[in-house]
Amino acid sequence: MFKKFVSAVLVFFFAAFFLCGCTTKRNTVNSGDKLNIVCTVFPEYDWCREILGKYKKNVSLTYLLGDGIDMHHYQPDADAVNKIKNCDILMYVGGESEKWVDEALAQVPNNNITVINLLAILGDSAIELERERVRSRKALDPVEETTEPTTIPEPLYEEHPWLSLKHAQTFCTEIADVICQYDPNNADYYKSNLESYINKLAALDKEFRLMFNDCKKHALIFGDRYPFSYFEADYNILCYAPFKTCGTAATAQYDDIVALAKQVDYFKTHVVYILESSDTTIADAIIENTTVSNQRIEVLNSAQSVTSKQAEKGMSYLSIMLGNYDIIEGALNQ
Ligand SMILES: [Zn+2]
Repeated sequence: MFKKFVSAVLVFFFAAFFLCGCTTKRNTVNSGDKLNIVCTVFPEYDWCREILGKYKKNVSLTYLLGDGIDMHHYQPDADAVNKIKNCDILMYVGGESEKWVDEALAQVPNNNITVINLLAILGDSAIELERERVRSRKALDPVEETTEPTTIPEPLYEEHPWLSLKHAQTFCTEIADVICQYDPNNADYYKSNLESYINKLAALDKEFRLMFNDCKKHALIFGDRYPFSYFEADYNILCYAPFKTCGTAATAQYDDIVALAKQVDYFKTHVVYILESSDTTIADAIIENTTVSNQRIEVLNSAQSVTSKQAEKGMSYLSIMLGNYDIIEGALNQ
């Protein structure tokens, strides 16, 4: 009985301690005795794990897209929307594919959720996708042009900023900052985790930089959707793909396949890349149209189809990026 009472008191004190300690720049914990963090994509979830370390057990940490469906194809159900509405900290990418998150947030009365929006953090550094300006039929009429302004759509941004190891460090710093504000008593521990993790990210970033500096054949040819714009920009490498971005891929045009095959021949590269969870149809067609022999298909992991099961078994953002390094190094030095 005494044991039970002590446990109850300890639970009460822990809850009170945690709740009282949770002042943030915006708010305090919504309800219950656990900080409630919801992440849409895998890298955000993994970064939280790294920073929380041993205190992850004190937090309700949800990886929303844990079924392995990428954000472009994800269909949120009522449960997902409710998780967002009831969390304390929400992390999402903030692009076109996650408009539903903005809609869910708009439904929260007296919104007291701390939101970490990756594209918003990048600000002007977010990569804008080209999109033809849409002009209304009336605007094309010279008579009415003076009264009807041209319609300029909202800009579209590339939605995979985590594929930049440089930006990943910025995001982790922001995440740690927010977590420290919710749990200032353990701030030193979180900052220490952040520092050692950022050192690992920076070291791998340096390795990629050295690899691309040392190797003359910088062209990466993709036979798939293309989420690597931030990675490409970081290392100033040449990448060719049948699509400008990831999204929902259409069928590749034959002319594009022939043009990509010519790039394979020109750079004498032996590898055509596809993404995890993709099929090889386009890459096969590119290889069939090349004149150089001994090509093969390799998979680069864009970290957007990781399942919760894989995450539990130890797959991490860093292990994925290290795997990509090994694959690209093997291809470039062949
Ligand atoms: Zn994507």
